[in-house]
Amino acid sequence: MTTREGIAASDGIAIGPAFVYRPQIPETETRTVEDPETEQKHFTEAAEKVAAHLDDLRDHVSSTINAEQAEIFEMQREFLDDPSFVGDIRELITSESIDAVTATKRVTEDLVAEFQTIEDEYFLQRADDIRDVSTRLVRTLLGIEDAALSELPEESIIVAKDLSPSDTAMMDVDKTLALCTETGSSTSHTAIISRSLGVPSVVGVGELENLESEQQVIVDGTEGRLIIDPDDETLEAYRRKREEWEAERNRIMAQAAEPVTTKDGAHVEVVANAGSPAEARRAKELGAEGIGLLRTEFLFLDRDTLPDEDEQYEMYREVIEPFDEGPVVIRTLDVGGDKNVPSISMPQEQNPFLGRRGIRLSLSQPEMFRTQLRAILRAAVGHNVKIMFPLVATLGDFKGGREQVELAKQELTERGIEFNDGCELGIMVEVPSAAVNAAQLARHVDFFSIGTNDLTQYTLAVDRTNELVADLADPFDPGVLNLIARTIDAAHEQGKWAGMCGEMAGDPRALPLLLGLGLDEFSMAGGRVPKAKAGLRGLSSAELVEPARTALGLATAQEVRDYLARFTEAGEEA
Ligand code: PEP
Ligand code: MG
Repeated sequence: MTTREGIAASDGIAIGPAFVYRPQIPETETRTVEDPETEQKHFTEAAEKVAAHLDDLRDHVSSTINAEQAEIFEMQREFLDDPSFVGDIRELITSESIDAVTATKRVTEDLVAEFQTIEDEYFLQRADDIRDVSTRLVRTLLGIEDAALSELPEESIIVAKDLSPSDTAMMDVDKTLALCTETGSSTSHTAIISRSLGVPSVVGVGELENLESEQQVIVDGTEGRLIIDPDDETLEAYRRKREEWEAERNRIMAQAAEPVTTKDGAHVEVVANAGSPAEARRAKELGAEGIGLLRTEFLFLDRDTLPDEDEQYEMYREVIEPFDEGPVVIRTLDVGGDKNVPSISMPQEQNPFLGRRGIRLSLSQPEMFRTQLRAILRAAVGHNVKIMFPLVATLGDFKGGREQVELAKQELTERGIEFNDGCELGIMVEVPSAAVNAAQLARHVDFFSIGTNDLTQYTLAVDRTNELVADLADPFDPGVLNLIARTIDAAHEQGKWAGMCGEMAGDPRALPLLLGLGLDEFSMAGGRVPKAKAGLRGLSSAELVEPARTALGLATAQEVRDYLARFTEAGEEA
């Protein structure tokens, strides 16, 4: 029996045979080519094949997982147009008259080494991406079939050096008991994907050269441990542990579909964020009562033309239909900032996060905006659909949006097309001015949904995409918390409801605080719904009012976290 400690990346216990996955790139000799032109052609064909395959993977993942995971393949695809990658490979083939495989390997090594000298999570991820693309290229150049995780012989625990997005994209999820990788961190791809699939995983256990497929292993994703060839006593202990874990998970899942009533009888709504119809369906299965944030960007990204009204209508219907009564909050297009849409002309901006983003972009392109609004209003017939504007900074932004909704309704009426005239209109509170001015805004809107991701970014002046300052982006900072409290209070004073759709709403450590502040609706990634519901049921909102106000008076994010730990079971981590 051997025990390896690693990083606990996704909760749970699995016991079963290992499936050791080592897609090898064979050792190859450098070949001198007589005719570099022919070799260039060979490379072009391989690059085209890989590009087409990455497009397929992107589409597959976009419809089965979500747009965000699918974007990984878009980034990988971009390397195939990148002069510092493909350009260098081509140059090497011609200048040194060497084969494409060797050229690809050399350029990859150089680039990866370059990325690795920058000790930054973002560049480490890019190094992984380039390796992934390169492996694909080399295998295609050599005519090697893809090693497949799509056809596991039996229920297994997948063990690999590391798993790339393209490895996991086609993974046979039904037969995957757990994942274990030799390398990786808690934010590596394997960790993220295992959490979103709800599969136990441990990463970073170190080299496992001697492990073979079919050897029995235990993955303890809660403690971060891999046990190889467990003895009888250990096996028995882990069987019991697995049973306990499964019973706990079943208990949480059994109640996942039930509405949440807190210990003192208050009702709070737990809904999900979704970025595609597939994600919305999965969220429903996991117990989400509705959708608290539909990120409609998925319809506009990765294409050269704008989606027309009918296409948008169909997509919104697909998202709305699974929810008979539950609300579906559709956010109008939120691009600009770090998200670009090829079909919308956007000027180059020096500070795009402070530029023409969200509602500002929509108001600058009213035709496009009203096409989206008409599609939403039509899709909303017979359902509880609400419309939400992103990045509202002033009352003028909201009024501008509302005016376009009225115009869209007029257009539909003139055309004799049926629509839902009763959709609530609300705003994301994610710009500090909206939170500070919430008392005024609350008189006009039907609801607020607090976007802590951007609210934190703008309040603390921390670019949310910049890894160098990532640890400063803390929504528990009292500056951010006081804006949250102010927003909820302002809504209630006007008899409106306040929800939250930023990441904080699904963070188990934040639940007591948000409940104590009176938040009415919690919207989070679908995978977090069952646990959040269970957590909220164990809390009493009345008892948390005082502590929540105390938290607002603390000096730092750390003080807030330390203080809140006593209200969650063992102060568990997110
Ligand atoms: C937010 O800013 O908190 C939010 C939910 O919106 P997004 O993450 O899509 O910007
Ligand atoms: Mg936002």
